[in-house]
Amino acid sequence: MESTKNRPRRSGSSSGQRRSFSNSNRRSSGGGSRGGTAGGYKGGNRRSAGGSGGGGRRGGGGRKMPTFDPSQFINKNPVEISEEVYVPKHKFSTFGLNGKLVKTIRDMGIETPSPIQDQVIPEILDGHDVIGLAETGTGKTAAFLVPIIEKTLKEYDRQTLILAPTRELAIQIQDELKKLTRDFKLYSTVCVGGTSIRPQIQSLRRQNHFVIATPGRILDLINQRKYDPSQVTTVVLDEADRMLDMGFIKDMRDILSLTPDDRETLFFSATMNKEAEKMVNDFMNDPITISVKKKDVTNSIAQDVVPHGHHDKFETLCKLFEGDELKRVIIFGAMKHSVEKLSKELVRHGISAESIHGNKTHPQRQRSLAKFKSGNARVLVATDVAARGIHVDNVSHVINYDLPNTFDDYVHRIGRTGRGTKRGKALTFVATK
Ligand code: AMP
Repeated sequence: MESTKNRPRRSGSSSGQRRSFSNSNRRSSGGGSRGGTAGGYKGGNRRSAGGSGGGGRRGGGGRKMPTFDPSQFINKNPVEISEEVYVPKHKFSTFGLNGKLVKTIRDMGIETPSPIQDQVIPEILDGHDVIGLAETGTGKTAAFLVPIIEKTLKEYDRQTLILAPTRELAIQIQDELKKLTRDFKLYSTVCVGGTSIRPQIQSLRRQNHFVIATPGRILDLINQRKYDPSQVTTVVLDEADRMLDMGFIKDMRDILSLTPDDRETLFFSATMNKEAEKMVNDFMNDPITISVKKKDVTNSIAQDVVPHGHHDKFETLCKLFEGDELKRVIIFGAMKHSVEKLSKELVRHGISAESIHGNKTHPQRQRSLAKFKSGNARVLVATDVAARGIHVDNVSHVINYDLPNTFDDYVHRIGRTGRGTKRGKALTFVATK
């Protein structure tokens, strides 16, 4: 074991004790995984759409049309996913967890620890800072929640701040937390933007073992002196790369600087870039890196293009829905207003559809997502940003009605066609000249 059991505690300011990321204890799962894509994002066909100027996906003015070679969107012979079997070292019953917590995990239908859980849980229990290189679908949420819950049960005054990029992800984390803590008196609250701040201020007056927040909103609450970060014992940065992508870098740094130097810091991210490494160096204390290497799933997803003329794009889409092959479909559109319009038009044509995009309020987005998840809507029309972090099982088709900005976005989009070995199909609309 390379882990430093008696790690030095942080002293002085957060920037005073810099450690290089490359010097941190790195460990990898050796390729074992539960299927997924991270490897593909990094080493695969990473390409920027020509003319999109680096893929600024939230640009204000008109959208420059990305240019792609349509052959990139075709894969008629997807390879079978043969998942490497990861053999976990632990069972949930051998981590030394509270018996009730182990029972709850079992009751949730979670039997064996996933690779990230198997490796991360003991480190967090031991008090190490951890960099978890893993993305949605690997069980990363339970990987950090389970050991923090265990520690909070032992030290009831622990306070955890979990930062997440989107409201949806924050809510999902709280949902999982509630399930895991059903037998305990542990309290949590969610503080996210786009929804009234008052109830959040109220909820922060109560004791909260867990505050789950988006960076902008919690910083706002800190500045209004409604939340005191000086009492925080653990900070979790979930989907850190996405928070950085979304421009939260300064907020994240400000928040971390206001928490105690001897806090524990857990950093979860699908990828590491320069900014992420710098954050790690500046704010983490001798972190252990655990990477769940994943295979590129792009070659295991059936992909095809849907040619359409300039005036029959929508009709072409409707035709696809004539049979019953398209069971549960996510359609990606480029702009908030076009996504809304498309979903309304589908409904007008008898196809049950919901939409999520940045112009909707948080409760509206939650309702749409719930309808889609429960099968009450056959289609979810979404923008890339709104679809981040959400996971829905058994999506049979992903349709790129509008082209993504970058090939990375394409890979993210089509990765939503299912989980594990069950993959669906991706269809990309391409205009014929
Ligand atoms: P996440 O990667 O945290 O987004 O987790 C994705 C889903 O996997 C969630 O619905 C979890 O309930 C589920 N899950 C978490 N851990 C496990 C596990 N060890 N085995 C099977 N499913 C799991």
